[in-house]
Amino acid sequence: MTLIDEIIRLKKEKKAIILAHNYQRPEIQDIADYVGDSIELSRKAMDEKEAEIIVFSAVDFMAESAAILNPEKKVLLPTLGARCPMAQMLTVDEIKRWKVLYPLVPVVLYVNTLASAKAYCDICCTSANAVEVVNSLDAETVLFGPDHNLAEYVRRKTGKTIIPIPEKGFCPTHLLFQPEDVQALKTKCPDAVVMVHPECSVDMQSIADFIGSTSQMCRYARESNAKKFIVATEEGIMHRLRKENPEKQFMLAYEDAVCPNMKLNTLERIYVALKEEKYVVTVPEAIAKRASKALERMFELKK
Ligand code: SF4
Repeated sequence: MTLIDEIIRLKKEKKAIILAHNYQRPEIQDIADYVGDSIELSRKAMDEKEAEIIVFSAVDFMAESAAILNPEKKVLLPTLGARCPMAQMLTVDEIKRWKVLYPLVPVVLYVNTLASAKAYCDICCTSANAVEVVNSLDAETVLFGPDHNLAEYVRRKTGKTIIPIPEKGFCPTHLLFQPEDVQALKTKCPDAVVMVHPECSVDMQSIADFIGSTSQMCRYARESNAKKFIVATEEGIMHRLRKENPEKQFMLAYEDAVCPNMKLNTLERIYVALKEEKYVVTVPEAIAKRASKALERMFELKK
């Protein structure tokens, strides 16, 4: 039996599903039940009523959200140390400090935060719905964290006063993209469409033809008449883009744009996670209760 056969057998035996983020290794995406962005995957977990175990192949904050939204299921993170550095940049103490300075201003947190931080916000957002979430608030000033590039994107789109918390939170992987690399690719392929994730720098955003989340990029590439795309987000997305659009050409804007944390998960670790049912992700009840309110408030907007 191959490793993949073993994973499939264990999945069936334990009524488990595998959810893989768009940035996971290709071989993990290929055996996953669903591939998507963090919130799409958490919603999938909620829809899968029969599943008892969820193997969430991604990083800590995503698995935490799945655990908060699916308290009756066992959520497993295949790699204990798979942490998102950006999520670690916003601590509860930092949020409290800003709340003292701006007591009447709502706090909007990107889902790329730890559950403990989410417990102190009014509403969560994703990179796909951040503009809609901020526009839904009856407030002209908003505390927004932890990504200051996404905060700047939201400021431009909404015209509201967006105060980034912390002042310079960032994703180290998306910061690797630089406009000159895109210009070099454009010289070779002038007709290529440039898709940029809003976690990229403002300079990168300013040269984009399309700015969006990973799932929005997938939809855009599918529906666009263009044949060539320059992509500025983590390299894992390239597998899905090429698989879904075999007739189109995709170029990564910077070939070393790899999130080392996302790549900690491997097929072997998924196998061990399923076999030994580890590492179980738990969120203290009081934190989960408050964080789930902020997540559900975001979901309410979609209805
Ligand atoms: S790509 Fe950036 S935001 Fe996403 S998990 Fe990696 S470090 Fe965190």
